[in-house]
Amino acid sequence: MVNFNDHLAVAVSGGKDSLSLLHILAKMRRFRPKTSLIAITVDEGIKGYRDEALEIAASNCKKLEIAHHVVSFKGLYGFTLDEIIERARSNDETELTACSYCGVLRRKAINIGARQAHANKVATAHTLDDEVQTVLMNIFHGDIMRLAKEKPVTNEVHPLLVRKIKPFCEIPEKESALYAYTKKIKFQDMPCPYASEALRNDIRGMINRMEAKHAGTKFTVFKAIERLRPALEETVRAENFKTCIECGEPSALDLCKTCEMLRHVR
Ligand SMILES: [Zn+2]
Repeated sequence: MVNFNDHLAVAVSGGKDSLSLLHILAKMRRFRPKTSLIAITVDEGIKGYRDEALEIAASNCKKLEIAHHVVSFKGLYGFTLDEIIERARSNDETELTACSYCGVLRRKAINIGARQAHANKVATAHTLDDEVQTVLMNIFHGDIMRLAKEKPVTNEVHPLLVRKIKPFCEIPEKESALYAYTKKIKFQDMPCPYASEALRNDIRGMINRMEAKHAGTKFTVFKAIERLRPALEETVRAENFKTCIECGEPSALDLCKTCEMLRHVR
């Protein structure tokens, strides 16, 4: 996933997984002097939650001597997530959860942040658990396009989209947590006050029960999709990127998903 001369951006939320990843990549950097690292944190603007995470991320970066770049929803989109949710709720636009807004806006913010940092790849700390949950969610939604597209190393599809890598995709969440505990890494333990993805929670519970009864289930699902993916990729047509008429970022439609969401809350 990492080449000797990569300029890597690491998406650091301040939680255990992203900080374990940052510490491990910082260690690797010693043996790869041409690889450079920068940490990126997205400040969604969640009162009483993100401020603490930002401090924790910054103090870890300082300790590891890694530059820390913060991109905020307020700066990029003009609203904090709190403001977006408040407006959406008062407009009666309640069909979308906070996680759906945040997911779309955060993905774009990470890409913009990585580009501002001149990174050629951005690493996220999605664990084996996250990957398997996402696979099953895509199956339950019938979203085969996503199943084909969301892989541990994304393709080079557009000059404005920084390639994404997931170095922890085969690391169970428990092991990533264990690493953080044994290395005494300071991380944020508080769950996001908006965390409400009902389907993901159900799937997490289901997979964990399966794993407890049938050890290896998570790896089996992950490996099955990895083997199926080349065939899946042939069945979905390649995305034709356009340029969003509002923000100028790459988009599948004339108006990107972010701008469409923001139109509703303005
Ligand atoms: Zn746009």
